[in-house]
Amino acid sequence: MSLQEILSKATKEHWSTGHFNASESDQMRAIVKAAKEVGASAIVGTSEGEANHLGYEVAVGIRDGLRKEFDIPIFLNADHHKSVEAAKHAIDARYDSIHIDLSALPFEENVRGTRDIVEYARSKFSIFNFQFSIEGELGYLRGDSKIQKEKIEVKPEDYTNPDEAKKFVEAAGVNRLAIAVGNIHGISLDEPALDIERIRAIRAAVPEEVALVLHAGSGIPEDQIKAAIAAGIANIHINTDIRVAYTEALRKELSEKPDETTPYKFDEAARDTLKNLIVEKLRLFSSVSK
Ligand SMILES: [Zn+2]
Repeated sequence: MSLQEILSKATKEHWSTGHFNASESDQMRAIVKAAKEVGASAIVGTSEGEANHLGYEVAVGIRDGLRKEFDIPIFLNADHHKSVEAAKHAIDARYDSIHIDLSALPFEENVRGTRDIVEYARSKFSIFNFQFSIEGELGYLRGDSKIQKEKIEVKPEDYTNPDEAKKFVEAAGVNRLAIAVGNIHGISLDEPALDIERIRAIRAAVPEEVALVLHAGSGIPEDQIKAAIAAGIANIHINTDIRVAYTEALRKELSEKPDETTPYKFDEAARDTLKNLIVEKLRLFSSVSK
């Protein structure tokens, strides 16, 4: 099944796929292992920073290797790509999917830039005969993927407007839409409050074949995640939660075994922690056996 088919199925059946970020092959492997364990497909994301660290072509090579080894659907997404050049690099390297994030630009420029990438991807992938999925973003998503030290205020005008969402997906021609509905990147000081009604309104306004994406899924209480999925979210991004869990496990192992110098031994606990947390998230998203 293509990513688009899986997302459509998730939208219709009210469950969500999980998107997890990686900047190392070990983390990619942990994500895929977790997906295999619960019978889900794996969606691995690399931001521009993560992709530059890993190498776009290398990330694609690891994905291909993991597909052979694990024999499950694995998709590689270029997460939050903010320049046309970076997005084209990911397409040329044969990522499966792009998230072009021009949400900081005015509406018309966001549409135009996103549309350019959609057309570029189509021109490439009709030649390669390759299924490709493109995500655009509308609304203002604050924060970055870390534990926030300061309070971040989400303003109602940051939220994605349902009528604009409809216009945006039609004009830009995207397959997925990232929305701002009270979510912020990173783990915030206050408990986030998702606007579930807004998700429902956007879902009703946007064509059914366009999947709705919730970024910044870290630190959102489980009942809100479930309500968001029931309201129509089909893809949830988790980055900060897994970064924190990985780093804490690694720090603990290094301090407990100061003489261990073999990387694949001292990071074993961190890899297991990462895998187990992703299994938990996939269960929460009702992705099991999907
Ligand atoms: Zn994000």
